[in-house]
Amino acid sequence: MCCFGANPGRGGHRLAAKAGETVFETRQAVADFFGGMVARTVFCGNCTHAINLALKGTLRTGDHVIISSLEHNAVLRPLERLRAQNGIEYDVLRIDPQNEAETLLRARKLIRPETRMLFVTHVSNVFGTVLPIRMFASLAKENGLLFGVDAAQSAGVFDLDLENDGIDLLCMPGHKGLFGPMGTGVLLFSERVLPQTLMEGGTGTLSLAYAQPEILPERYESGTLNLPGIAGLGAGLRFIRQYGGTQAIRTHEAELIRVLREDLSVIRSIDLFDTLCGAGEQTLLSFSLPDKESEEIAAMLDQCGFAVRAGYHCAALAHTMHGSPKGGTVRVSPSVFNTKKQIKNFSFCMNQIALRKIL
Ligand code: PLP
Repeated sequence: MCCFGANPGRGGHRLAAKAGETVFETRQAVADFFGGMVARTVFCGNCTHAINLALKGTLRTGDHVIISSLEHNAVLRPLERLRAQNGIEYDVLRIDPQNEAETLLRARKLIRPETRMLFVTHVSNVFGTVLPIRMFASLAKENGLLFGVDAAQSAGVFDLDLENDGIDLLCMPGHKGLFGPMGTGVLLFSERVLPQTLMEGGTGTLSLAYAQPEILPERYESGTLNLPGIAGLGAGLRFIRQYGGTQAIRTHEAELIRVLREDLSVIRSIDLFDTLCGAGEQTLLSFSLPDKESEEIAAMLDQCGFAVRAGYHCAALAHTMHGSPKGGTVRVSPSVFNTKKQIKNFSFCMNQIALRKIL
């Protein structure tokens, strides 16, 4: 903002050129990171925006979609609107985290002639379940379906590659595992799909044309871009590389969760939702206590200096279909900046809460 706070792609002056260069470099870095094409890497306001563009831009009246039982409301609610107003139907595939073959069987049964898309979250934001996205990609390919992935919890933590993983629409926020600022998100899409725009307006290109220019990716980015956010997202990607990449980050987070699981499992009254985690490395953990609402536990943990999310985590499907208690769960989601010592302190405080020594 201090050095080149100008509108990228608008003025021809040096400040605007530098701003445009920063946007381009970040777009290139994101495309490289996820094996996508620069022209098909679109900056969005958040992951919800990217998902809306992926779903509403691609689905048409009469289409049928299959989603997983672990989807966030960012997927469910746009589909509910499409169902009510646009004649698009969807089915929910019940994920069996312990049995991929069973999940695949159930998915096959849901496919109909009108099925156009399979859309799943990569990692559940409630239970940390890692979904077998390569298995789903093969199923989608076999059946001529588009394959969409919500990578809100996995981008920057798990390896993802548009081409190798067979993904057509990859949605992510900038502010979670990519270490960017809030108010950033990205949609990457393959050559097999070309979404319609959600919004039209000034793109900084073909200013005399009445109709929205077709040029990618500007076609999807009408209005002034979030330059400080995008620059921050670029810095976030550089941080991931400096840290040693997604594998190093995942190893650290999974180790913290392993220690946490071990420590919490000795607290007799605690219910850990860890059997839902699936085959992949678990990078977050949900739990509850029978005699306390999750919000109450989170407020106590806040007093002890721990920031956790409690309740239903904007994920109606995950909670209702996978049997979490009334009031939802407490979710612990450590990052690379957390340490084992902090996890040990956390477990100590949880033990005190469970024993009612902290009221
Ligand atoms: N999908 C999942 C799985 C999420 O966890 C979240 C946010 O927590 C979203 C989508 C929505 O992301 P955003 O808040 O960036 O729109």
